[in-house]
Parts: sequence; structure tokens; C-alpha cells
Amino acid sequence: MPQHTLTVAGVTVDTRHWIGGERLASATTFTDISPIDGAVLGEISRGTPAEADAAVAAARAAFPGWAATPRTERARVLHAIADGVDKRLDELAIVETTDNGALLRSHRRGVMPRVAHNFRFFADRLLALGHEDFDTRGHRNHVRWDPAGPCALITPWNAPLMLESWKVAPALAAGNTVVLKPAEWTPLTASLLADIAARAGLPAGVLNVVQGYGSEIGDALTSHPDVRRISFTGSVPTARRIAASAAPHLTPTSFELGGKSPLLVFADADLDLAVALAVEQYDNAGQVCLAATRILVQEPVAGEFVRRFTDRAGRLRQGDPRDDATDIGPNIHPAHLDKIDGFVRRAVAAGARAVIGGHRIDSRYYAPTLLTDVDQDAEIVQEEVFGPVLTLQTFQEEAEAVRLANGTRFGLAATVATGDPARAERVTAQLVAGTVWVNCFFVRDLRAPFGGARSSGVGREGGDWSFDFFCDLKNTVTAPKGWQDHG
Ligand code: ADP
Repeated sequence: MPQHTLTVAGVTVDTRHWIGGERLASATTFTDISPIDGAVLGEISRGTPAEADAAVAAARAAFPGWAATPRTERARVLHAIADGVDKRLDELAIVETTDNGALLRSHRRGVMPRVAHNFRFFADRLLALGHEDFDTRGHRNHVRWDPAGPCALITPWNAPLMLESWKVAPALAAGNTVVLKPAEWTPLTASLLADIAARAGLPAGVLNVVQGYGSEIGDALTSHPDVRRISFTGSVPTARRIAASAAPHLTPTSFELGGKSPLLVFADADLDLAVALAVEQYDNAGQVCLAATRILVQEPVAGEFVRRFTDRAGRLRQGDPRDDATDIGPNIHPAHLDKIDGFVRRAVAAGARAVIGGHRIDSRYYAPTLLTDVDQDAEIVQEEVFGPVLTLQTFQEEAEAVRLANGTRFGLAATVATGDPARAERVTAQLVAGTVWVNCFFVRDLRAPFGGARSSGVGREGGDWSFDFFCDLKNTVTAPKGWQDHG
């Protein structure tokens, strides 16, 4: 009798898909491993294209009912899901940490509360959604946000439930149904979300979860004619594949991709703040798409910046992410660590100097690294490493800082440290980035548009922009009674 559950720290997780309100096992499985110690967590149903089709069929069957459900009722169910997340917050936190290696304390205090907030926010926003009617020679224009249909939501491993809820919540609020495909390295919390949603009263088929490899079931989801929206967070090459797969049906896509974001430190900045912002980039072992991995420092303060940075980074504690004293946990997978190490080795071979780090600690942990003596066109400056690896370049003038900041194919975010508000405004206006933080980092309001320029993404989600993406907008023009003017 095959086993269909696994247990993490006393929490039971169903390892099967969730399709049409039922658990469904695949004929084969893949192994889920904890990045903390390489322990085998269990065997997960490995989806096939037929199962992806079944999930889309379930989403399609459930769509008319959910789309016709009054907004107030949809909002009520989303709040009930948020309540369920709050109730199981500690369980979700430990399962997520065990599955992806990010810090337990941040899952408890920041991430999981934010997951609940995602559901509450989009529920409330739905009820407030509307555009003021406007008049065309006495004709009333009325804009509606109609549900679009089944959505394929594809998510990465670095912030699993956080990114899943960021997509699932607005999609459901909009009246759509969902097929969620979590990343194969971190499938567990999506399964728990399915349980929570079912308990909250979400009708069968409205949320479906299919597990498996993107290379095996991705195309089945993204090329499916019944899928009306694709929201994807992940890598640029995968986004290209999805765009091609979605092209025959012109399925609208929203992509949030990689970054190589800069942190600009001007000589007039509060240097301790700038150093704190720089060291913060090692969070989640550098596996954050928004991370400002390129530090650009104005020449006169560069020496002092490096001294203070080295001192502060030296105090970071690396270790078990379940320990409250830990600042940096493991990277996701030994294969990923090899990738990170390859980037650093090639950079050093090309002349870069490791001020700190520059090496792996073992097969799971990489030493926080700062590389100097790097050229703007070097691979380490141009490509996303997705590990605890930062580069430092210096600049003389503001214009040079902007040129370096904008000098990659990415444009996800930028951080500016300066004590001069006029400079902040001038520089911000010239930066190519979806989000710019001035003297702060990672402050994210759900009302704000989120996404990237250039290769960092297509489209924006967040606030009403999420509804714009997940809905078919319709303008209705109604003539006044007895009106004959067609001009
Ligand atoms: P990463 O480098 O962060 O793993 P990927 O883009 O490979 O980024 O993975 C992000 C998500 O995309 C994962 O859920 C993965 O399974 C999925 N994925 C990978 N290949 C495809 C594909 N061809 N079609 C759809 N999804 C895919």
C-alpha cells in the first residue's frame, strides 16, 4: 500500500495532487529533500500531462459557479482561508523551513502572516474594486472586471507559499479558478494550502494543485486552450518557453523573473544604514529575486564602506534555519550550490577578489561573499547568481552610478542610499526598475504595482493591477432613455 502522506515536525502533509476537490496519486513520484540536512522528506506524486489536463478540466468545470458567486461571498471565503493560515501559522512555518531552508523565525514572524494578509488584502480590495462611471454625451460608461477563466499559476522554490498566495488570492478574488503548480523542490506548503482552502469552504475545483516537474507538465498547462491566464515567477529561460507555449492561444501572461539589482551608495549617505542595507542582501542565503546584488559605492567612501561591511557581515551566523540565532541558512540544493560556486570561481579566474567568502562551506552552505575588482561586462556582474554573492564596484559621479546601475539586461529593483532628497529624486527618475527603494529595502505594500522592466518581467501585479491582469475588463455604454444619437 503506497503511502500518501509525509510528516514534518509532527505536521502531516498529503503528497498527492489536489484535483476537483479530491486527492489523486500519480503512478510515479519524485523525492522531496530538505536542504537543511539532505534528509528525505518523502515521495511526492509526479504529475503527468494527463493529470495537468484533469486539473484544468476541474478548474473549467468549477469556473461558472465561482465566477457567478457574489463578490461578498468570494471575499468571505478568502478571509476564511486567511483565518486557516493564521490558525496553522506555526505548522506552515516549520514545514516551509524544512522544505526550502529559509529561516524559521522569518517564516513565523513575517512570511506566513503575510500569506494570510495576501488573502485578506485581495478580498477587501475586491469589494472596493470599481471605476467611477463617466459620461459620453449623456451615455453612461460603466467598467466591469469580469472573471477571465481558469488560471495556471507557476511558482518557484525560494518563497513558495508567499508567492503562491500572492497569485492565488487575487486570481480567486477575481472569480477565476486556479491550477497551481508549485516548484518541485518545495511542494509541501501548496498541499497544506489546498487543505486549508477546502476547510474554509472553497468549492471543489476552484483551486487545484498539480505537483511535478515543469519540464514534464509545464507545457500541458501553459499551452492548454482552456487556461485563460498564466502567472509565472521563475527564470528567464523558463519564461521564454512559457511565452512560446502560450502563443498559439494568445494566453495572457504575467512574468516576474530574475534580477541583478543595484544598491547605489552615495558619499552623502548614512554609511551605517548603507552597510546594513548591503548586508541584508544575504537574507535567504541570497535566494531573493529582488536582492541588490551589485553594490555601487562612490569612490571617497568606498574604503570605509568595505571596512564596515566586512565587520558587520563577519558577525552573521550561518547554520540551521530552525535556530533563532541563525542569520543565513542553507542554499536550496547541492546542485544549486554548484551553480553558485561556478559563478564565483569563474569570476575569481577572471580577476575578481573575494573580500569575504568566495568558497563553499560544505555541500549545503555557501560562505557570504563580496567580490571586488569586477568589470561591468563580467559574467558575475551581468548574470543572476541567486546565492549569497555580492559584487562591489565604485563610481565617481552620479551619472556614472546611473549608467552602471542600468547596465544589465535586468530591471527588477534598485536601492539608493543618499542623504540628499534632490539626488534621490533625480537618480530614481533615471533608474530602470520596477521598484526603487530610497534609504530602505524590501518595504512592500500590497497596493503597489510589482514587477520588472526589461528581462525582469512582463506586466505588473499588486493592488488593482492584479485585478487588471486576472480579469477581462468590460466597458458598457448605456444610452439615456430615448436617445437617438449614433454619432
Ligand atoms: P528556478 O531556476 O528558480 O528553478 P524555473 O523557472 O526553472 O526557475 O522554475 C520555476 C517554476 O517553473 C517551477 O515551478 C518549475 O517547475 C516551473 N517550470 C520549469 N520549466 C517549466 C516549463 N517548461 N513550463 C512551465 N513551468 C516550468
